[in-house]
Amino acid sequence: MARIGFVGLGNMGGPMAANLVKAGHAVQGFDLVPAAQEAARAAGVAVVESARAAVAGAEIVVTMLPAGRHVKAVLADVLPAAGAGTLFVDSSTIDVESARAAAKMADEAGCRFLDAPVSGGVGGAAAATLTFMVGGSAEAFAAGKPVLEAMGKKIVHCGEAGSGQAAKICNNMILGISMIGVSEAFALAEKLGLSHQALFDVASTSSGQCWSLTTYCPVPGPVPTSPANNGYRPGFAADLMLKDLRLAQEAALAAGATTPLGAQAAQLYALFSGEGHGGRDFSAIVEMLRGLSREG
Ligand code: NAD
Repeated sequence: MARIGFVGLGNMGGPMAANLVKAGHAVQGFDLVPAAQEAARAAGVAVVESARAAVAGAEIVVTMLPAGRHVKAVLADVLPAAGAGTLFVDSSTIDVESARAAAKMADEAGCRFLDAPVSGGVGGAAAATLTFMVGGSAEAFAAGKPVLEAMGKKIVHCGEAGSGQAAKICNNMILGISMIGVSEAFALAEKLGLSHQALFDVASTSSGQCWSLTTYCPVPGPVPTSPANNGYRPGFAADLMLKDLRLAQEAALAAGATTPLGAQAAQLYALFSGEGHGGRDFSAIVEMLRGLSREG
């Protein structure tokens, strides 16, 4: 069993660190927020007084932080305290450029680095069923995989540094666009007098089939487990979708990729969030799209 440092014990990091403890690892963790520290301590994490202390003596260090600037700042702080060859695994969702910069920082300090963002949300973090999308060398991936398996059920090596983040934002750009597409179809069906169930029965077994429809249907009824049946409680909050769509747009701009639907999806989620809905599940965007329809 490994000695693992964990920095960022929030909504995702807290339960992920708890699963490492359950798997028998010795976890030393740090978060800036006392409530997060308290919850982690209750789950068996040895809570320490700083990020540096979390890294001291650890073979593997997991970070689960809000954005690229936090990851780079934490690395700059802790790398001098890390032993040679320490494996850093950043599971935050951050921009591709920052992930590559973080890998370079670790490399220059004689350490190894994987970008390993996740999908599966807070539920997946608690149940240890996350999907990890991993960028970094084959050797670092092989070293990190057994630890990631204690927190997730699917671990995919996507390529060199930054590839995990690239996979994450490409996937979530598909998701944002497809949720808007499915929502528009339901809004149109309502105007045409077609029932939700009829559209679902046809599209879910036809060429319109996709995850946003069959697993996460944005209208109540056809998929009982979707957030639409639960007042659109997240799930996956619209503000997190907006964050990922913005990361995709940043990456598209930097890489010279043309993503007009991704840009439009980012605009629509920004509008939805600006109207005060950022904390609701992202599938609630169907309500805004209905509201944009011409009356009559
Ligand atoms: P969160 O805000 O609950 O947790 C982040 C934690 O980092 C906070 O507790 C904060 O105090 C801590 N932190 C910030 N700076 C720190 C520092 N310098 N040292 C120590 N701790 C520090 O956010 P979250 O929902 O856990 O998300 C974390 C990451 O995972 C984000 O990048 C997010 O985009 C991504 N993500 C979230 C979800 C989700 O459903 N919540 C799903 C997939 C990916």
